[in-house]
Amino acid sequence: RLVSNEATDNEEASIEKSLRPATLDQYIGQDRVKHELSVYIQATKQREESLDHVLLYGPPGLGKTTLAMVIANEMAVHIRTTSGPAIEKPGDLVALLNELQPGDILFIDEIHRLPKIVEEMLYSAMEDFFVDIVVGQGPTAHPIHFPLPPFTLIGATTRAGLLSAPLRDRFGIVSHMSYYTIEDLTEIVKRSADIFNTKITDQGAHELARRSRGTPRIANRLLKRVRDFMEVSDKQAIDDEIVAKSLRFLRVDEEGLDEIDNKILKTMVEYYHGGPVGLGTIAANIGEESDTIAEMYEPYLMQIGYLNRTPRGRVVTEKGYEHLGLSAPQQN
Ligand code: ADP
Repeated sequence: RLVSNEATDNEEASIEKSLRPATLDQYIGQDRVKHELSVYIQATKQREESLDHVLLYGPPGLGKTTLAMVIANEMAVHIRTTSGPAIEKPGDLVALLNELQPGDILFIDEIHRLPKIVEEMLYSAMEDFFVDIVVGQGPTAHPIHFPLPPFTLIGATTRAGLLSAPLRDRFGIVSHMSYYTIEDLTEIVKRSADIFNTKITDQGAHELARRSRGTPRIANRLLKRVRDFMEVSDKQAIDDEIVAKSLRFLRVDEEGLDEIDNKILKTMVEYYHGGPVGLGTIAANIGEESDTIAEMYEPYLMQIGYLNRTPRGRVVTEKGYEHLGLSAPQQN
């Protein structure tokens, strides 16, 4: 599976780490987000304050975690990383907040999946840097006012729409991460190849970038696989031919779509006349979670204009039909 959310084992985790850019200068693409952040970081540092809370949203693999780490590095503060589902109860949050030094960053990935009771506790923590916790039970229960050092919360989410309004409103800086251009991805591929000590031609890097769904995580994953194919070939560098051959083997098509992307489109066309069809129905048909489709597949298929969202459900566009080598049914 190429489109997945997490680095799985230790080895992969350490490769991930080596690929991560450390400074805003090294962070390729997302120019608007980067420019905006660099202004806020500089101003905040001059005032010797903690950075306002930051919400980063956009599809998985676009560099939200990486950017949070870059911000910590630029601010020269510590960062603690966790995720929404990992903070099960208010006590877990208090423990995390308790460890922060003034100015530190708490990064919460998948912040839309925080339990409600934890989320509510975050409101006062974010706004006025305190939490009220209740200790004891029954008649002896009493609240304790717990002041916190000024800190920065960086939240990341793939689904800004799932965030409650009170939480969203407490972020001073809200940045939308978009899919990368082929040029930016080409640069990322070249940089990663360099870190891997692997040679890649300009055309090879361009071809790989073009077929990476606008996503650095996918580009890096494919690069690792393509490098294997190069090493068992008689070539000394990854070129477009090796990229094409390996991607065919990996079932990544000409547009960079993988098997699941194509399954989604085919199912909609074959069983539902191209839609409108609900997300849940598509998911059940292809044996995937609705969330996975909504977060990882649908946004890209919409971005390249193969899929549309209508009030009555999803529809395959004319371009989507063309991709499958079919012509769209006539509207009447
Ligand atoms: P997210 O948190 O949005 O799911 P990550 O921050 O984990 O994404 O990034 C996924 C991978 O892509 C990482 O290996 C990271 O090194 C790489 N990456 C992301 N953004 C960039 C970038 N702008 N420049 C170079 N590499 C990047």
